[in-house]
Amino acid sequence: MIYKDDPDSIRGFLEDTSNLKGGHTPGVFFPETVDELADLLKSAIREHRQFTIAGNGTGTTGGRIPQGEYVVSMQKLDRIGEPVPIGGDRAYITVQAGVLLETLQKKVEHSGWFYPPDPTEKLCFIGSTIANNSSGARSFKYGPTRNHVARILLVLADGERLNLSRGVCRADKDGLFRFTLPSGREISFKRPEYRMPATSKHNAGYFSEADMDLVDLFIGSEGTLGVIAEADLLLTPLPSAIISCLVYFRKINELFRFVDLLKEPENAVVPRAIEFFDSHSLEFLAEKYPEVPARSGGAIFFELETTTQREEGDLDLLFALMESCNAMTDESWMALDRDEQERLREFRHALPLIVNDWLSRQHESKISTDMAVPESAFRELFDFYGSSCEQEGFVYIIFGHIGDAHVHLNILPRNHEEFVGAKALYRTFVGKALELGGTISAEHGIGKLKSEYLVGMYHETGIGEMVRIKKYLDPYLLLNKGNIIPAAYFETNTIH
Ligand SMILES: Cc1cc2nc3c(=O)[nH]c(=O)nc-3n(C[C@H](O)[C@H](O)[C@H](O)COP(=O)(O)OP(=O)(O)OC[C@H]3O[C@@H](n4cnc5c(N)ncnc54)[C@H](O)[C@@H]3O)c2cc1C
Repeated sequence: MIYKDDPDSIRGFLEDTSNLKGGHTPGVFFPETVDELADLLKSAIREHRQFTIAGNGTGTTGGRIPQGEYVVSMQKLDRIGEPVPIGGDRAYITVQAGVLLETLQKKVEHSGWFYPPDPTEKLCFIGSTIANNSSGARSFKYGPTRNHVARILLVLADGERLNLSRGVCRADKDGLFRFTLPSGREISFKRPEYRMPATSKHNAGYFSEADMDLVDLFIGSEGTLGVIAEADLLLTPLPSAIISCLVYFRKINELFRFVDLLKEPENAVVPRAIEFFDSHSLEFLAEKYPEVPARSGGAIFFELETTTQREEGDLDLLFALMESCNAMTDESWMALDRDEQERLREFRHALPLIVNDWLSRQHESKISTDMAVPESAFRELFDFYGSSCEQEGFVYIIFGHIGDAHVHLNILPRNHEEFVGAKALYRTFVGKALELGGTISAEHGIGKLKSEYLVGMYHETGIGEMVRIKKYLDPYLLLNKGNIIPAAYFETNTIH
């Protein structure tokens, strides 16, 4: 197996996009087969090694940054099969963990299939998107990654393989999972007993639901319960035509009314993605795109799957909805072909680049939220974000997945004092989101950055539930130390 420990090879594995500092490791292993991965984990106790699993480093929460553990890079486990039709307009494809999302999406599109999960950043590994249950704009229609996973092949902390298809092992009425591993070892443990928040999206801590599938416990467990080596992913037919549109509004209330109309299930034109840009985001974008109208109160980007036969009718319905909400229709950007849609995609993706460029001139890091609350409380949290930042005089932007009642607030500090103030405000936002029955992470996960806030969400008993499961599946705490559960909870056998 390839092993590297020279500083140049290691450096990239000490970071992701979180800006978390202080990562360090003795070296990085690059298994090329599942057997190599299993053997590596089997030798962990003998060799006194703990491991942090590395995807492609686009995570935002420091999950892959080692704190002295060895790193296992999934980079060389990059084999990908062919789509296999399974009837009923579905297919599946077998993919190893180190395949890039972009590679998978392009490959299946060539044969007329579609893999919906789209966590904005395409240069992430499939294994990581499963470990993090990634979601994105299209999750409004298709849900997060877990909805598209039919089977996972895991390597557990002791090196044993767990090949798990959906439907094979569900929690019984007492919440118990029972499963026999190939070695004959029996697995038997209870699902977490806490209740997850009633938000459209939620990605904080282990999944828990009555009658849940064991597959769903591992999806979103951020590499703390096992290494995802391979998966069968479900595909749907590639839509024959897409309508993409960026529509501006003068008044924020009209924009919100438009979102409500787009989301009505009886509406003939329910999009697959509904995304939001506030007026501050648009001001940043106007630096690069002078066509962004001045004085707009915000914009909505939406994407609708259609057909060439239906396209004209769908456009008429959409324009009628826009007009009914006083949209700035003349200034809006309608993209009907692939090239124009790519330009619109570039526009959306320019926002983080422009903002990061601005921040690098201030020599400060942004403070960003990933919280979500139940739909009925969304406006309250949204208004609270804005009024709190205005009161502090911060530069900030709000953007994201408004279809799922989940937007990101980025506070952009101009100096260190503002950075400290923004961090304090972040805590207030966590408190507000929890008070409203929400989650501290709707999509980016907990990693190492947010584990302290998870205690506020699940309290000591909920964290104790997670510790119980972690210790059952990884008694020597070999995998992804510090992710999700604060390390202090493992320092003694009692729960604090
Ligand atoms: C500009 C930008 C936009 C983004 N937008 C979104 C978004 O809209 N939605 C969203 O959900 N995310 C988003 N992300 C976050 C990120 O892309 C996802 O979390 C992604 O899944 C990380 O993939 P990676 O390969 O880079 O993983 P890494 O950052 O390398 O690792 C992420 C975590 O997964 C664990 N891990 C990796 N591989 C495995 C494995 N095989 N088995 C077990 N654990 C493993 C790691 O230990 C770590 O904890 C965004 C990131 C960026 C930079």
